[in-house]
Amino acid sequence: MPRALVTGAAGFLGSHLCDKLLGLGYEVVGMDNFVTGDARNIEHLKENAAFSFFQHDVTQFIHLPGDLDEIYHFASPASPIDYLQIPIQTMKVGSLGTHNCLGLALAKGARFLIASTSECYGDPLVHPQPEDYWGNVNPVGPRGCYDEAKRFAEAITMAYHRHHGLKTRIMRIFNTYGPRMRLDDGRVLPAFIGQALRDEELTVFGDGSQTRSFCFVDDLLEGAYRLMQSDEPFPTNIGNPTEMTILEFAQRVQDALGVERAIAFRDLPVDDPKVRQPDITKAKKLLGWEPQVELAEGLEKTIPFFRGRVSETVH
Ligand code: NAD
Ligand code: UDP
Repeated sequence: MPRALVTGAAGFLGSHLCDKLLGLGYEVVGMDNFVTGDARNIEHLKENAAFSFFQHDVTQFIHLPGDLDEIYHFASPASPIDYLQIPIQTMKVGSLGTHNCLGLALAKGARFLIASTSECYGDPLVHPQPEDYWGNVNPVGPRGCYDEAKRFAEAITMAYHRHHGLKTRIMRIFNTYGPRMRLDDGRVLPAFIGQALRDEELTVFGDGSQTRSFCFVDDLLEGAYRLMQSDEPFPTNIGNPTEMTILEFAQRVQDALGVERAIAFRDLPVDDPKVRQPDITKAKKLLGWEPQVELAEGLEKTIPFFRGRVSETVH
């Protein structure tokens, strides 16, 4: 039975990754300090003998007895409002946390995968974004704490690969959604679904012409798993290439819920990327991977979770 460590295990992606690995027959060790996570995301794993959990801040040295085959380093605030509130912890988890996880991987002879991000491309001047584009990041803007932490994480990962021969993988994740995102995490999907369910206006930032594309969590994690099993040390984009404006996305959310709400336009946050779309040519060729879940289907799978969360806040 392979044994994997998942950091950020109580978060949105980390908790689903634990479920996926357990389903594949792994023994899974989850680690999290709950800074942006939620214990409810792993509550259902409490009685699972193949799962163990350590509450630990990965920016502190990690002691972990026993063998380890794979480390998935997913710990990091991921939503703009989270990392703007805790910029120093965000920089520490991307830098010190990644260093600790790489050191652990080296000590255990484990493979290592970092959950990096499309934010490495910043406000991109090349569209769609292929992996060999170096990006257009403002290091001293408000998003710099996240973008530069992840760019450092990629750089130190490559240094461990080149210097120590560690088997490392870099996954550049584009906007991903699904159940277990925090209703109040400020990301566009929980924001719009929450507002629409509460009969409020949908807050569109700027004029809503900025673009994103949305990957369902199951697709993303299949990409993560295949990338870990590959031999590819250089960054690989994993995301859904179906691009739309944020205004179109607001409409898609209303269509999925069968409601019509007013749009309230708000200021565009500083350095908010104007376009974003993954070029997934590499993942298709290397991993035989591409997304399977269309937005309408993914929304259908996601909305019941948010209905539950909204009704908890109302009662
Ligand atoms: P999330 O906030 O739901 O999960 C992150 C988890 O990491 C949380 O449970 C948090 O408590 C934990 N964490 C943060 N700092 C920690 C520390 N120092 N020690 C231990 N645990 C810590 O976010 P998510 O959307 O699940 O994102 C997971 C990873 O994927 C992040 O690394 C993020 O940068 C990356 N990513 C996500 C997306 C996306 O669209 N969801 C896009 C790009 C990259
Ligand atoms: N956005 C919006 N209204 C909201 C939240 C976000 O219009 O209530 C926009 C945001 O400005 C960005 C896009 O939606 O252009 C995606 O934002 P998110 O925070 O989900 O992730 P990002 O892609 O910026 O990391």
